[in-house]
Amino acid sequence: MNFNEDQINRYARHILLPEVGGIGQEKLLNSKVLVIGAGGLGSPVLLYLAAAGVGTLGIVDDDVVDLSNLQRQIVHSTHSVGMAKVESAAKTIAAINPDVSVVTHKERIRPDNALELISQYDVVADGSDNFATRFLVNDACYLAKKTLVSAAILRFDAQVYTFKAHETDKDGGHGPCYRCIFPAPPPEGQIPTCAEAGVLGAMCGMAGSLQATEVVKELLGIGESLSGSLLICDGLGATFRKISVRPDPACSLCGETPTITGLDGCLDEQGSLTA
Ligand code: ZN
Repeated sequence: MNFNEDQINRYARHILLPEVGGIGQEKLLNSKVLVIGAGGLGSPVLLYLAAAGVGTLGIVDDDVVDLSNLQRQIVHSTHSVGMAKVESAAKTIAAINPDVSVVTHKERIRPDNALELISQYDVVADGSDNFATRFLVNDACYLAKKTLVSAAILRFDAQVYTFKAHETDKDGGHGPCYRCIFPAPPPEGQIPTCAEAGVLGAMCGMAGSLQATEVVKELLGIGESLSGSLLICDGLGATFRKISVRPDPACSLCGETPTITGLDGCLDEQGSLTA
């Protein structure tokens, strides 16, 4: 380990943890995580992974900061309104931790760029706000054999999940992918978006912080992976539920006879799922 004095000081509370230690901290500094969406979920994910010293953070987002984002998207600030979200987030991260290199991808993740983007990273954290992207990222991560830590939020509700169906577990089986739980996107308009139904800002912080925790666990290989479980939080009831989810042998992606073997035709030009 070649930590300088500032790094020993900065990461002291991590190094103290037997599960992390100097070796784990060095592992984090050598890790690369791709965060999809620098919004409500991406903000806390980016802030905590930056503070944790994850050495390379890729950010995918084609949007600019809007005043209505600031109620929950805490990686951005008032003076960043109008700025590209990837640039605004990169500035904040640089101010938090100079050990972190940020790679900005000012674009949407699409079927034609998803595999190339994802293959450059160790773990993917999805904080996107629409089903088309969520399905695309699930499929791309499975095909690229990358662990995906995903979350979804609406109003006072949050869900967090880890998918690594590409990995064989100790029993010779594998965990589920997103499609094992939700085989296809719901019909458009059936489930409202946060823009339509609202979301409590702090719920994004909670779900995103859980996501950041699971990303660090996956990078370090510590604790119990969330793969195979669905963590559901009811913010108004102040309750958490952890539900077991099994892989679906008939899953079109990770099942016994997959029909999805590439990303072609996954999204139409408007970003809607056509498959
Ligand atoms: Zn599956």
